[in-house]
Amino acid sequence: MSNLETEPSEVVIGTVDDCAMEILQPRDVPLGGPRAMEVRRTLPQRARSLIGAWCFVDHYGPDLVGAGQGKPGMTVPPHPHTGLQTVSWLFAGEIEHRDSTGAHAMVRPGELNLMTAGSGIQHSEVSTPATTMLHGAQLWVALPDSHRHTTPHFEHYAPTPVLHDGATVHVFLGSLIGETSTATAYTPLVGAQIDIPAGVTTRIPVDRTFEHGILVDSGDLSVEGAGSVPVDNLAYLSIGRDELVLAAGETAVCAVLIGGEPLGESIVMWWNFIGRSHDEIVAFRAQWQAEVVATDGTSDSARFGRVEGYPGRPLPAPEMPNVRLRARD
Ligand code: MN
Repeated sequence: MSNLETEPSEVVIGTVDDCAMEILQPRDVPLGGPRAMEVRRTLPQRARSLIGAWCFVDHYGPDLVGAGQGKPGMTVPPHPHTGLQTVSWLFAGEIEHRDSTGAHAMVRPGELNLMTAGSGIQHSEVSTPATTMLHGAQLWVALPDSHRHTTPHFEHYAPTPVLHDGATVHVFLGSLIGETSTATAYTPLVGAQIDIPAGVTTRIPVDRTFEHGILVDSGDLSVEGAGSVPVDNLAYLSIGRDELVLAAGETAVCAVLIGGEPLGESIVMWWNFIGRSHDEIVAFRAQWQAEVVATDGTSDSARFGRVEGYPGRPLPAPEMPNVRLRARD
C-alpha cells in the first residue's frame, strides 16, 4: 500500500473521555490513479501519530471487485519505503506482492505478509484477477532508530487461530495470550485479529506497558468501562491496563488489535518514507526520483533496488510541501 495523499488534510478527532479511550475516526483516502480505490485511514491523525510503534492504519472493503463489478480493486505500482515495516492483513481476496528483495508472494486472508523496508525498498501490490471481494488492512510499524537502516527483507507467517475466552484470535505479530508470531518485530508490540461471537464478552490479558488500538472491522463492540467503538473507527487505549474486556453486542465483532510500548522517538513521516529529519526525507525523495522514476524502474537503485515483473512504471513522488516537515511523536 502506498500513501498517495499529496495534500494530507487536517483531521477530525473524536473525544477523550475519563477512561482515556480516544475514538479516532476514519477519513476516506484515494490510493491514486484515475480508478482509485478508496481506503479508510485512522492513523496517523493530527492528534495522534503513533500507537506503540504502529504509525499507519488503512482499512478497506469489503468491496466487490473484478470484471463487471463496480470497484477497481487494488493496483499500486512500485513505490518506495524507508524506516518502516508494512503489515498486510486480509479478510477476503488476494493481493500479488512484488518487491526489490526479489520476494514475489500472495497476500491471503489470515496470513501475514511483513515487509521490512529498513534502509530502503520498493514494492508493488495488485489484487489478483481471481479476487471478487477485497477486504483488509494495511498497517505500518515504524522502525526504532537502532534498526531503521537494517537490510530490507520479507517474511510470511500464517498464525494458527486460537480460541480464547469465547473469541477466536489470530496473533500475527508480537505476542498475546501465550501465542507468539515468528515474524520479526523490532520493538515490543502486538498485532492480532480478534473475532467475538454476538453476545460474548472476552477478556484479553495485555502488557500494561503497552498502549493499544482497536480497529473495528464489523459488529457491535464495546470496550467495557470505556464505551462503544463504531465500525471503521480506531479506539486508542492508554498504557496501564492488565486486560482488555471486549464485548460483542447484537452482532458478532471482527476487530484488529494493535499495541506496543510507546516508541519514545520523534519521527518524520512523509509520503512513503519515515526518517528523522526533513533533510533526510528530501534526500530519500531525490534518490527515488533520480534512480527509479527517471529510469522508469529499469535500473538498479542503490537504495531502492528494482522490482522485477511489474508491467508498468513506478510511482513518482509528489512535490515536497513548501514548509519544512515536522517531527511527530
Ligand atoms: Mn507500500
